[in-house]
Amino acid sequence: MAWTDEDEAWMRRALELARRGEAGDGTNPIGCVIVRDGAVIGEGCNEVDVHHDPTAHAEIVAMRRAGAHLACDELRGAVLYTTLQPCGMCTMASIWAKIGRIVFGAGRDDVHKMYFEDRHLDTVDFIRDSFRDDLALEGGLMARECAALYVGPDEDVPKEEQFNV
Ligand SMILES: [Zn+2]
Repeated sequence: MAWTDEDEAWMRRALELARRGEAGDGTNPIGCVIVRDGAVIGEGCNEVDVHHDPTAHAEIVAMRRAGAHLACDELRGAVLYTTLQPCGMCTMASIWAKIGRIVFGAGRDDVHKMYFEDRHLDTVDFIRDSFRDDLALEGGLMARECAALYVGPDEDVPKEEQFNV
């Protein structure tokens, strides 16, 4: 994948938000920036624990802010940058939001399986099977830096600490 300087700059911003999430009280190290026409329209980190809201993933938080900012629920032409491959919920929300392109850093295979809800289906499958044919998905931008924020694929995590079971 040939990334542009702009892609890298926005992913750096997403990483900054993720690190802020990691340092924050009740926020988590996943960062997301939604950009349109060269400007941020929404951004955030994972706020699930802060709001006791299982839907407050970084991508949803950023989408809500973008929608409020634009007073519009359609984000056509927008690019969503996120430090971790979007889960099924966030992928579906991106489809509904009419986002034009999703760029993620660390992929499913770079991190522990507890970050995903489905055994086999992943972001790619959700998009491939959607009615939309105008949504691009590209992964692996600054993957190593992003993956460093997460538990590794082979790390031993006690079952009670796994988010997805
Ligand atoms: Zn998600």
